Amino acid sequence: MEKRYQSLSLFEFQSRFPNDSACREYLAQLKWSQGYACVKCGKGRHCAGSSPLDRQCTSCGHTESPTAGTLFHGCKFPLLKAFYIVYYVSTCKSGMSSTELSRKLELRQKTCWLFRQKVMKAMESSGHFPMAGKVDVDETFVGGQDEQATGRSQGSKSLVVVAIERKGRGVARMYGKVIEKADRKNLKAFMGEHISPEAQVRTDGWSGYQGLEEVYPRLVREKSEKKGKNFPQLHRSIMMFKAWLRGVHHSVRYLQAYINEYTYRFNRHKMKEGIFENLLKRMVAAPPHPYKMVIA
Ligand SMILES: [Zn+2]
Repeated sequence: MEKRYQSLSLFEFQSRFPNDSACREYLAQLKWSQGYACVKCGKGRHCAGSSPLDRQCTSCGHTESPTAGTLFHGCKFPLLKAFYIVYYVSTCKSGMSSTELSRKLELRQKTCWLFRQKVMKAMESSGHFPMAGKVDVDETFVGGQDEQATGRSQGSKSLVVVAIERKGRGVARMYGKVIEKADRKNLKAFMGEHISPEAQVRTDGWSGYQGLEEVYPRLVREKSEKKGKNFPQLHRSIMMFKAWLRGVHHSVRYLQAYINEYTYRFNRHKMKEGIFENLLKRMVAAPPHPYKMVIA
């Protein structure tokens, strides 16, 4: 399974992408795979632009590069290194921190950090594949001094609602979202994004879930037991996420982005098809995510 997970070996990666122009070519192919239409005027005819692989509209003269309008937009360091970041973050079992990327690729840590945020943006769930089987939902606190604390009062910690889909004794998929408070509105919104109405949903007795049977007719609200006793798979998943967060990133700022990254890889841990190619596709399809949006 490990081997499938790392569908593209480092050796294969290096022979496919020996230099910047190979990367540009790959991006151009991805970007215009469905044909070309000018982003300014919508016309479909183009000629070559001044730089290799750029396309210039024959109607209005607008020139577009393979990276324009994608998450690679405005990348100030070699494209090949950007591809390495996408490769490492998608194929390493626990991802790779910006510090480690910086060492490996001889880039500034801050540069790696910022580009990594863009990769994480591409890892955001599309919400197109809601969980429809046996689903457990609960909230947890992440960060702060005392993660074992019970109750729902908020300190320096972030409140996160987490859902998993159980399969046998294991977990097939996982999603999470940072929420302000565990009220009905927030819980319902999160569940609407990731859980299908047909799902067999299990929650604890918390009042925030009250009345959600309207949307989820098969919802069961089980009486709460001591933290961690009920819903063992869910709590194991949460513990593993927290351990990963502490081990790799040591920080809970930009927590939602880290949740996206973790669940993206987790939900594809059995994927046979290339996780790296999938992520590159998403990076090309997603609009730019400049620094001021990252820190917003
Ligand atoms: Zn045009």
